[in-house]
Amino acid sequence: MLARLAPRALVRWGVAVLLLGSGGSFAWAGQSRFTQADYQRHAAELRQRLPGPGFTVVIEPPFVIAGDEPAEVVRQHCQQTIRWAVERFKQAYFSADPTEIIDIWLFRDQESYARHCQALFGQTPKSPYGFFSPSDRALAINMATGGGSLVHEIVHAFMAANFPACPPWFNEGLASLYEQASERGGAIVGLTNWRLAGLQRAIREKKLDSFHRLFTMDEREFYGDSQQTNYAQARYLCYYLQEQGLLRTFYHRFRANQKADPSGCRTLQEVLQLKDLEGFQRVWEAWVLGLRFPEGVRP
Ligand SMILES: [Zn+2]
Repeated sequence: MLARLAPRALVRWGVAVLLLGSGGSFAWAGQSRFTQADYQRHAAELRQRLPGPGFTVVIEPPFVIAGDEPAEVVRQHCQQTIRWAVERFKQAYFSADPTEIIDIWLFRDQESYARHCQALFGQTPKSPYGFFSPSDRALAINMATGGGSLVHEIVHAFMAANFPACPPWFNEGLASLYEQASERGGAIVGLTNWRLAGLQRAIREKKLDSFHRLFTMDEREFYGDSQQTNYAQARYLCYYLQEQGLLRTFYHRFRANQKADPSGCRTLQEVLQLKDLEGFQRVWEAWVLGLRFPEGVRP
């Protein structure tokens, strides 16, 4: 669910500025919707509503991060995961920052995640891993489940600003792709991950929906009883496009065509030069059955 947020006045500057985080500092060059003073004001407000002691607050545009792991670990997540992923997502896909400064809450374990989400958002999270709440302008992550959830939710924060009409299959497919990410030629790439085993099982048991069905699911259907299979099917279609060198092309063409082709079905057929989507699904299923993920299950 991607609620629209009121845009603030666009403030741009092109010179390097210094932003001071909590005890750390870094140079940041580029353009932003927000000024250094906006981020510092936001961070000061966030410090006023921390749900407990032991949180470190760090400014990492376009986000302000609050985490209750040791301060050095929080700063490592900011630089090695958040900054790394954001730079590469912007190169590949996203020209616009989120329209509001987004908070990222990094909770050290399940207990901290559940308790603090209740205090901050008034509800226990549905996902054990993390979520993006547009109405709270916040991501919340259970860091005990690894950094993959953090990268996944960052995709949603940018997708909401850049492609608000994106259907659930592509929003979750692209976000899930980067749960297990690496770098190839300076670009971020997704690798096989724990979602593969369930997908291969569903293919063998002939329980997978057609691509056409997947593409036209609304949120209620996509996030229904078969959601794990839907996530995996969408993820490995994005992985296939990536491995064909066509994922970025697909994203940009789909976004440009979305009024005429809201599900992306026709754009996929154009990009892959397909006449027969069902025939392609059989080829893709055989390809998926040949993939390997040695670790097998979710860490
Ligand atoms: Zn997601």
